[in-house]
Parts: sequence; structure tokens; C-alpha cells
Amino acid sequence: MSAGTSGIHHVTAIGGGPQRNVDFYAGTLGTRLVKKTVNFDDPGTYHLYYGDGGGTPGTIMTFFPWEDAQGGRIGSGQVITTAYSIPATSLGYWTERLVEHGVRFEKPRDRFGDTVLAFEDPDGLRLEIVASDDRRVGYASGPVPAEHSIRGFHHAALAVGAADRTTQLMTDHLGFRRVDGAENRTRLAAGDGTPGNLVDVMDASGFPRGTTGVGTVHHIAFRVRNEEAQLAMREEVAGLGYDVTPVLDRSYFRSIYFREPGGVLFEIATDPPGFAADEDAEHLGETLKLPPWLEERRGEIEEVLTPLRVPGKEDS
Ligand code: ZN
Repeated sequence: MSAGTSGIHHVTAIGGGPQRNVDFYAGTLGTRLVKKTVNFDDPGTYHLYYGDGGGTPGTIMTFFPWEDAQGGRIGSGQVITTAYSIPATSLGYWTERLVEHGVRFEKPRDRFGDTVLAFEDPDGLRLEIVASDDRRVGYASGPVPAEHSIRGFHHAALAVGAADRTTQLMTDHLGFRRVDGAENRTRLAAGDGTPGNLVDVMDASGFPRGTTGVGTVHHIAFRVRNEEAQLAMREEVAGLGYDVTPVLDRSYFRSIYFREPGGVLFEIATDPPGFAADEDAEHLGETLKLPPWLEERRGEIEEVLTPLRVPGKEDS
């Protein structure tokens, strides 16, 4: 048996135009652009990573922004909502901020004792902000004042047609346990069970399958301590009959992927080496970083990418 995972590492979604994506995630939401690189499988497009000040696992939202890609359909077999976490005392600040930035949100509601604001990003990706007790630091130097900054993820909600099988895989093999439930939602926790380590499995049996495209999540990654833990997990999941990829080098972590029984693409990613692997921690996300095997093509890659402007404090 492997030791399981200890929570969410990152969530990766498909976006539309890259500048609009940066404006929303680094501007409106005030998370830090911690890495500006390209899609390693499609180097003519960006891969943008946002997180807390250091890009800590459990805070990282990543995007493949495809300017002209088709919209996806939200449905079963997907992460249908990605929920960010803010301190309980910051709810007033955030309702005002969303209004000021023209983001429409639903009437605040209670879920498992926490207040939840639901809204969408400019491409229709479903997000939430959950106000709860969260001790993490967030990003102290962004456009949102440190005390109100987004701490990272609260949870991700998976919509699956076989909720029992998904839940069983996660509790028996990925290090999660059941901590709460209501109607069609089962809340699972890994590690210490604090925000960032929570996943809600939603029963979506009877709902149409989602399709991947702009405004949908592509995959969710769970974190493991190191490569050894990842290999143990790979062996365990492969032993269950899942088709697991070999270990892939994603520069800032190592990854394996497989599809869980409900259709959601799962990734297991290592905590190391992290985002300071190829640039100074003080200057994360400021310049275009390429993996060594694409460095010789930098000229042609930079020529096709639209330069991005990252909103600063003064634009908040
Ligand atoms: Zn990933």
C-alpha cells in the first residue's frame, strides 16, 4: 500500500484569451502569476500558473488559454466547481470586490457551516469563494490586501456518474476519508483535512457527460511528497487495472495521470521541485520560462505568443 496523497496539488482548466485570464486571476482574484511557460505539448500556447506567493501545492490554478478554442460543456466526468478559500472575516471585502469588478455572484449560502459565494470566471468556469478558518498566508504582495488575500483552494467538486466507485478509489487508495455529506454531495479530506485538502464528490448520475473546452477543468492533481511516493502510488493504481501514464517531467513537479471510474482525469504530482526551480522566488512569473528541450526554439515561440501584462497593486 502506498501512503496515499495529502490533498490537492493543482487544478488545470482551459481558458480563452490569455490576457483576459491574467486580468481575472492576477487582477480581480489577486492570486500570483507564479509561472509563465508554454504548453509542453503545444508550445505555441501559454501555460499559466497562479497561486499563493510561492506557488504552494493546494493553491495552484493553471490554465491552457486557447484564444480561438471552442467552449466546453460542463457535466458529469469533470471537476465542476473549483472553490477558493478566504478567511471568515474577509467575506464583506470579497462581496464588495466582486461587485466592483463586475463579477456577478449568487446569493451567499451556507454549506457545511461555511459561507459560499458562487460565480464564474470570464470564460464561464465555475468558481466559488468559501469563507472559513484558514491559517495559510496567501499572496501578501498582490492587488488584494494581505489580510483578505485568497489562501489557496478550499475544495474541488467532482461530478461523477458513479459516485460510490469514485469515493471508494479515493478513500481506499488516494489517502482520503469521508468527513461530511449532504444530499448528493460527499466531502472527503486528505492529510490534516484543512482547506486545500478537501474534495466533494457529487452524484451526477443521469446528467450528460461534460466535454472539454474553454470554461471547463481539464484535470485535477493530487499531491505526493516525493518521487518515491509517486512510484508507489503508480504501482498501486496500475495494480487496480487503471491505465496509468509513465512518470512525466513537468519541470515544476513530476506527474502521472489516469482516469478515475467517473471519468475525471486524475494526476498525481510531486511537491518538489516547485516553482523556484528555474527562477528566483522573488521574481516568479515575470519572464517566459521554457523547459531545456524547447529553449532552442525560444525565438519562434516568443514570436507567436502575445506579450502579457500582469496587473499590479495600482490596478486593483
Ligand atoms: Zn496537471
